[in-house]
Amino acid sequence: MCGIVGYVGPKQAAPVLLEGLSKLEYRGYDSAGVAVMTDEGIVVKKKKGRLSCLSEMIDGGAAIHGTMGIGHTRWATHGEPSDTNSHPHLSNSGRFAVVHNGIIENYLKLREYLTKKGFEFISETDTEVIAHLFEYYYKGDIIETMIKVLSKVDGSYALGVLCADNPDSFIAVRKESPLIVGLGEGENFIASDIPAILSHTRDVYFLDNNEIVVINKDEVKIYNTDREEITKEAYKVDWDISAAEKGGYEHFMFKEIMEQPRAIADTVSPRIKDGKVVLDDISLTADYIRNINKIYVVACGSAYHVGVVGKYVIEDMVRIPVEVMVASEFRYCNPIADEKTLVVLISQSGETADTIAAMREAKRRGARTFAIVNAVGSCIAREADDVLYTWAGPEIAVATTKAYSTQLTAIYLMSIYFGQELGTLPKEKIAKYIKAIETLPQRIEKLLENKGDIQYIASKYFSAKSVFFIGRTLDYAVALEGSLKLKEISYIHSEAYAAGELKHGTIALMEEGTVVVALCTVKELFDKMLSNIKEVKARGAVVIAIAEEGHKEIEEEADHVIYVPKCDALTMPSEVVVPLQLFSYYVSSLKGLDIDKPRNLAKSVTVE
Ligand code: GLU
Repeated sequence: MCGIVGYVGPKQAAPVLLEGLSKLEYRGYDSAGVAVMTDEGIVVKKKKGRLSCLSEMIDGGAAIHGTMGIGHTRWATHGEPSDTNSHPHLSNSGRFAVVHNGIIENYLKLREYLTKKGFEFISETDTEVIAHLFEYYYKGDIIETMIKVLSKVDGSYALGVLCADNPDSFIAVRKESPLIVGLGEGENFIASDIPAILSHTRDVYFLDNNEIVVINKDEVKIYNTDREEITKEAYKVDWDISAAEKGGYEHFMFKEIMEQPRAIADTVSPRIKDGKVVLDDISLTADYIRNINKIYVVACGSAYHVGVVGKYVIEDMVRIPVEVMVASEFRYCNPIADEKTLVVLISQSGETADTIAAMREAKRRGARTFAIVNAVGSCIAREADDVLYTWAGPEIAVATTKAYSTQLTAIYLMSIYFGQELGTLPKEKIAKYIKAIETLPQRIEKLLENKGDIQYIASKYFSAKSVFFIGRTLDYAVALEGSLKLKEISYIHSEAYAAGELKHGTIALMEEGTVVVALCTVKELFDKMLSNIKEVKARGAVVIAIAEEGHKEIEEEADHVIYVPKCDALTMPSEVVVPLQLFSYYVSSLKGLDIDKPRNLAKSVTVE
């Protein structure tokens, strides 16, 4: 998820690697390392913390002599950020050094297998299996070994591998994680993104999935997994550095919106095996779950809104009562919680001060804590009894998008898992829900393709003074998030209302030109929403409706309709939120605001 750089050429490799990694710092990371081919074999240096700590340790690179190497900035997914878990990882003999971005989904099985074969694991990472697999299958031909290793691993990866037997070349590959090749004069590079190599060359190859590259200083050869050589057109980069850092997008928020299908797939796919949800790291037993008398979902901001969706989903699938609470309230409200209470804490950073305090309060009362967290090794991840990681990768924009979406996905996984373990969910329903979350990335892709329509709607209303978001049940839960997103980055006054509640007071605010975003995707309540739309239209409101494909009749009532793909499950909020994120994004962009760093806000709120 973070950064890889590789170099071979006439220069000393370590300073080039450090410089390249510094250009990838924007991707977020928690540790860094390099491996360099020296006269004494492969030398690895790595360190938790900022790149400057690594640079200091190796004297800006001067402490390691060698003209070929690989470097890495890690965003931990498996194993906390630590010196040992940092990349590169060596095979036991020291013949192979590996850097990896992504997730090896079947690493546990491979780890067991390799341990039986006598390999010793030093780190907790999923990556280390790759180094040992190389050692295990190597018979002198590195390409053949790479093909064999790829046939054994599932998941997403960009890999760079040094082999001590090949002092002049290294090998790399990618699948679902980014990797490019930089083509220089008498020197060549690999990198996760263009800025890392832009001071050396503007000629690059964009690798496709499963293309294997063998790189030496004068030549780059590309093979497919049948070992046939592939020829590729080089691309000339004509962007400036700041555009490249955002993968060509103008803002991190937009990049992160676009990354959602990938982030959701990363969170889901390692957890589905043989038609079941498998949560390897969770120690909750069916007996414990059966005895739970109440679930609290406790969080702040957007994570709290995930909890509001969670209440509907968990109660429907598991039939245990759920209460959702803002963390800063939970900690002071004398909550009724004991050893039969499960407290689910949701936090992107795992360092949210109010959520940490709520977690400690829950524990003090004897409750069991279950964390949904993005940052591995963070405070909440360490202290909670169980942790279910979202694998969204680092989120840079202050307004959350992909972290919110993966948190929702984690709630679905947790609910299906509980339902499955308790037997409250019939087999057919489990199959239906699993299919719904596995195919969610495709449906979101489809929504993202239609972003132009949302940009058009935003262009009509970006100077609105007040925007209301209304919906019922699950749609209401998403309305809360849509409204917060708009407030955060466009500074437009906005409120979310349960649509049926509007006439109990708030409808007094409707006047000519008030914008109302009406979420109408809950099938059983579609007609009720049509009535609510009529009510606000009668008072002069402009209505932007979001409805499931096929519900054409809504076009008669609403001024604009955004359709979302059909989905017969409780996962609809994951779709509905996407147009709302895009709407806020475009409104903010049209107003010329600082989208990634909105005023008065911080990414991770570590104070009370
Ligand atoms: N899954 C790997 C780890 O946790 C790689 C993480 C990354 O992409 O930085 O070490």
